[in-house]
Parts: sequence; C-alpha cells; structure tokens
Amino acid sequence: MRYAVLSDIHSNLEALTAVLDALASERIDRYLCLGDAIGYGADPSACLERLQACEAVAVSGNHELGCLGTLDLDWFHEAAKAAILWTRDHLSFTELNLLRRWPLKTAEGPCTLVHATLRHPERFEYLIDAGQAVETLAWCQTPFCLAGHTHLPCVVEYDRASRQLVRVITQPQELADVTLTGHSARRVLVNPGSIGQPRDGDPRASVAVIDEEARRVSIHRVAYDVTAAQQKIRQAGLPGLLADRLAVGR
Ligand code: ZN
Repeated sequence: MRYAVLSDIHSNLEALTAVLDALASERIDRYLCLGDAIGYGADPSACLERLQACEAVAVSGNHELGCLGTLDLDWFHEAAKAAILWTRDHLSFTELNLLRRWPLKTAEGPCTLVHATLRHPERFEYLIDAGQAVETLAWCQTPFCLAGHTHLPCVVEYDRASRQLVRVITQPQELADVTLTGHSARRVLVNPGSIGQPRDGDPRASVAVIDEEARRVSIHRVAYDVTAAQQKIRQAGLPGLLADRLAVGR
C-alpha cells in the first residue's frame, strides 16, 4: 500500500490542490490527514470538500477543536484566534458535524495517526525533541506513527527492543527519499510538514508518501500559487500576517 500523508492544510486551497495534482502520478492507495485542515486560510469548506473527495482518513487538530468550541480559544495566539472565529462563521452545520467525527487519534493499516503527541493527544504538545519522539514511538502500536502540528517535516526511526533512536532525519535532501532499515521491531515517526503554512523556511507545500512494501518514505515539496492564497486571506479580512508568512515559509 502507498499512503499520502497530508497535514496542517490550514484552509489553503491553492496549496492543497497543487499537492493533490502532484500526487495524481504517485499511485496513492489511501489518503491520511493529520488535522489542522482548517484555520489561518480563506478556503475551509473547499479544503474539506477535497479531503472528502479523496476519502481521507482524518484526525482532529487543535484548530478543529478550537472551531468546535471544545478547546479554549485562550490556548491560541491572537491571529489564530481571529482565524478560528472567522472559520467557525464560514463553515456549515454539516461541515462542523464532519469535524466532530474526527477522533484525536486513529489507526489505518500500519499507521497510527495523531495531530501532536500520542500519549496526550488532547494537550497538543509540540513534538520537537528526540525525547518526545521516543515517548510517542514507545506508545505506538503500529510500525508507523504519523504526526504533524509543528509544520516541520522529519522522519525518526526508533528501535523498540533496545529503546534506542536509530536515526533522526530533518535535512530536506535526505527527507526526499528515505529507505527504512528493515527491522520488524522498528517504529518510524513521520511528520510530513505542513501543506498550507510551512514553517521551515521553504514556502512550498510539504507532503509525505509512504510506500509500505518498499519501506520508503519521501517528503515532497510542491510549489503553488502563494500570491493567490495571500490575496484571498487579505480579501477575507483575516489577519495580514497570515498572508505575509506564506511567502517566506516561516
Ligand atoms: Zn497547524
């Protein structure tokens, strides 16, 4: 099976469309979405429609819960809060009900999906250091743990038997094509980066493809029409910095 891992789309339809177009030649069997499909950008409904069209298996991020009123908005910075309130006003009852059905974590084939960390998915902690990666992988019952939230792509290999980190890969050139070591006790954390608001200095959309049989993970970067996405954000009256940051990927 080949899985496409989409995360942190953040209502950026231009970025999502470019990614789905790029994946059309990739023989994808299943689409997985790690949450924060909405918030920040100007096209929440259209993004949800695209996810439904590709029958994506999805988990909830902090922006979904903020929008549903189940996560306190004080948790968010001002621009995020403004975007969540805007998004809430622009989603239909049916769309909000769709988001209500997204769990905090789920499993699909060899993959466990979560927005942030596996031990406390409801806390939306930022998984940024090796210790947190080890903790999440120790909790993972499937070969792959897929997590987003940081908007920073990485692949981490962990050996359960020895409780040792095998590899932490964050360099873009290496992430483009990772061949996993074929040990059955290994657990692999994949953060695909963000489609709609990359924060690693590369403004292109980021998406992961996992080939289960070939034991390969590739993180692709896809250029999209940043200017169009920025214009929509400004026209919608959303905070200007949400448009500005798309140009620099920070
Ligand atoms: Zn996010």
